[in-house]
Amino acid sequence: MSANQFDLIAALQRELPGAQVIAPGERAAAYEKDESGLGRFPPQAVVIARDVADVQAVMRFSRAHRIPVVPRGGGSGKSGGALAIAGGIVLSLEKLNRILEVSREDMVAVVEPGVVLETLQAAVEAAQLFYPPDPNSQAWCTLGGNLAHNAGGPRALKYGVTRDYVLGLDAVLPDGELVHCGHRSWKGVAGYDLTQLLVGSEGTLAVIVRATLKLLPLPRRVETLLAFFPSEEQAARAVQAIFGAGLLPRACELLDAAVMEAVSPRAPFKFPTGVGGALLVEHDGHGDGVADELVRSGELCTEAGALEVLAAQDETQRKRLWETRRMISTALSAVRPHKISEDVAVPRGKLVEMIRAVREIGARHGLPTACYGHAGDGNLHVNLLFASLAERETSHRAIDEVMEAALRLGGTITGEHGVGLAKKRYLSREQSPALIALQRRVKAAFDPEELLNPGKIFPDA
Ligand SMILES: Cc1cc2nc3c(=O)[nH]c(=O)nc-3n(C[C@H](O)[C@H](O)[C@H](O)COP(=O)(O)OP(=O)(O)OC[C@H]3O[C@@H](n4cnc5c(N)ncnc54)[C@H](O)[C@@H]3O)c2cc1C
Repeated sequence: MSANQFDLIAALQRELPGAQVIAPGERAAAYEKDESGLGRFPPQAVVIARDVADVQAVMRFSRAHRIPVVPRGGGSGKSGGALAIAGGIVLSLEKLNRILEVSREDMVAVVEPGVVLETLQAAVEAAQLFYPPDPNSQAWCTLGGNLAHNAGGPRALKYGVTRDYVLGLDAVLPDGELVHCGHRSWKGVAGYDLTQLLVGSEGTLAVIVRATLKLLPLPRRVETLLAFFPSEEQAARAVQAIFGAGLLPRACELLDAAVMEAVSPRAPFKFPTGVGGALLVEHDGHGDGVADELVRSGELCTEAGALEVLAAQDETQRKRLWETRRMISTALSAVRPHKISEDVAVPRGKLVEMIRAVREIGARHGLPTACYGHAGDGNLHVNLLFASLAERETSHRAIDEVMEAALRLGGTITGEHGVGLAKKRYLSREQSPALIALQRRVKAAFDPEELLNPGKIFPDA
């Protein structure tokens, strides 16, 4: 450990008496990486904040000593947003994990950023209320990370993404000042909507320390089906048929053959062999109409060529299907030693074309591909699987082409994982120089010295 390093740890301990300040080494290792697969970036120190005052103290310290700070929640991010690429301090919000209130009267929850999403969902459902955003990492991602990435999930199809449930935020600015924006009421339009600016700002403008979230009544009925198709294209066409018939399922997830093959041996649900594509469709609501809608979706799948349509018979079967769905990302990692996973989104009508483009790109580069995801909203997780690091270069070229295809079809480079580090070199393909320059000016207004999560989102100069 260098003298400078020792000084930083000691100085932080003086600044935050009694707080957990972790020096580089074994205990800090968990904070060096996330789920992006981009590697390890050891910070010079990790601070586990105990309260808002700790967060403010760290930000003031950062400004005074010109040391970068990277906020961190559960570390489940897939775009490298929580990586300390410039060293400095990783500021973990994991211990700010209280659910401060679940109000049935106002239909809001007030939470700290370190609350794990699944914990919040359980708490609000116990009160017969519903917090719809459901990224598949819900067992370990935190509300802070969800807010910073404006996370979506299967239910975004019907209910929207995290942003749609944020009423107010408390946030610590890069100079240490605590600000409150937004409101507790369901409506409110005073001033610029800085609440919504902070949502999705990927931890680059302020550190979120509290959120007031909107809740809905808990749907009384939830019905789920799984349909198997000879090909993924037929599955994708069934998505069009379901929406074309005026139905709005709460989730409509597509799985291709490679995905089913990878997940089957490990998951509670075993897919039949020889199936080319599957759709997981879920309807919800408050009356008998929900079952009718499910039946209609099933018929539309059959008309679109489904080989078989299975309806979950009870909550255990439903949970088993979703557990299987949530295991896909990890299961694919076991197929080949390396994978690059992207989350492009295209307009729903372009889903078939996007899948075709991915297959063509994979075949041309000699790389196996696997696609799955939130087909209902055109958000496709495209995976390129490769065996050796020598193939990594080829994979990057292939991913470049996948991004181009998504943009050509009117889509985006990231539907939910954020730009972070992983996709910053693609941002200028999607957005004009003027738009990127405007965002850089917003960043400078919050963080003129570029100390909060530097080097993320925007392409290197
Ligand atoms: C298996 C798997 C499935 C996934 N499924 C989905 C999915 O369905 N939908 C989806 O959207 N994402 C999904 N993700 C991605 C990821 O889980 C989400 O982006 C999640 O919101 C990250 O939360 P986190 O707490 O882990 O954040 P982290 O990874 O710790 O951080 C993510 C970003 O948030 C910033 N941040 C964290 N806390 C704060 C705070 N308090 N204030 C300011 N900035 C902060 C960090 O600086 C970083 O930029 C998945 C990931 C995995 C591994």
